[in-house]
Amino acid sequence: MRNTVHKPVLIAHGGAGVRTPVSERAERRRALISAVETGLVVLRGGGSALDAVTATVAALENHHLFNAGFGSVLTREGRVEMDAAVMVAECQDSIAEGSADAQKRAITRIRAGGVVLVSRVYNPVLLARCVMERTPHVLIAGSAAERLAREAGIRMCRPEQLITDRARSRWFASLKSPKSALQEHGTVGAAALDRAGNLAAATSTGGVSGKMPGRVGDSALIGAGLFANSRGAASATGAGEAIMKAGLCREAVRLTPRLGVQEAAQRAIEELHGATGGEAGVIIVDSRGRLGYAHNAQAMEIALLAPSGEIEHLAVPATKKV
Ligand code: ASP
Repeated sequence: MRNTVHKPVLIAHGGAGVRTPVSERAERRRALISAVETGLVVLRGGGSALDAVTATVAALENHHLFNAGFGSVLTREGRVEMDAAVMVAECQDSIAEGSADAQKRAITRIRAGGVVLVSRVYNPVLLARCVMERTPHVLIAGSAAERLAREAGIRMCRPEQLITDRARSRWFASLKSPKSALQEHGTVGAAALDRAGNLAAATSTGGVSGKMPGRVGDSALIGAGLFANSRGAASATGAGEAIMKAGLCREAVRLTPRLGVQEAAQRAIEELHGATGGEAGVIIVDSRGRLGYAHNAQAMEIALLAPSGEIEHLAVPATKKV
């Protein structure tokens, strides 16, 4: 298994929710394609799935039209509070214990790291990776996470530097109509398989506009906003409260061997809707490099490496009436 060379693949999303304004669509499309390109350059150069999803999500965090990093939506009090995480399932050779002839077999090692409620870093996904690589923990919140960022030399900023005019005007709108604001999404995420067969996922968000200060969404929660194991890697977007209750990404990956990626993505969304009434979207890559995606919101934007070798951008219509 370890010696098999896999064809690297990558899929990314730019959020699910209400349709984005027509005036923004071309730029969002370009940004999503370019972020996937960035990740594919990493993979094709022999880089890891983890490096690829980190690079893809960081590129989207840097883009002002996505709700992650620069351009994040604001809390009810007009502040940025971001969540992000990475998760990786890596193939490793091991010596089978208890076996008389000490046979070699492949095992999967799983690692994860995340941050919630951070306001002072440009790229929360880099800090999430730092939690995974530099601490024995999985999830660190707020000022303690920002202290880690400082120690690790991750680029810091003042919270106001992350606020765009666009986010500010949406915030004003959310004060007038809190319900409509909660339907506005734009979270970013990616999932990838590398040549060595390692799978990784990353998700990053500013959360939901007009949220209560201290609210934590699904994006940095393992099993909810992202998941990776030997079967597949997934990233979610949409109503965080519903995604958490349904454990969306873990469920989608769990269903993959039985149903195949596409059907698994659809079924996981149907289950989420049935159990919570919420709207969400999910992307998956499985251990054979097959890609799946589904959502039940008005719209979901994704970009992926198509079998033709080209990067395809899709404004995905709701996969099924649920
Ligand atoms: N899932 C994110 C959250 O609830 C929002 C989104 O995906 O747009 O924080």
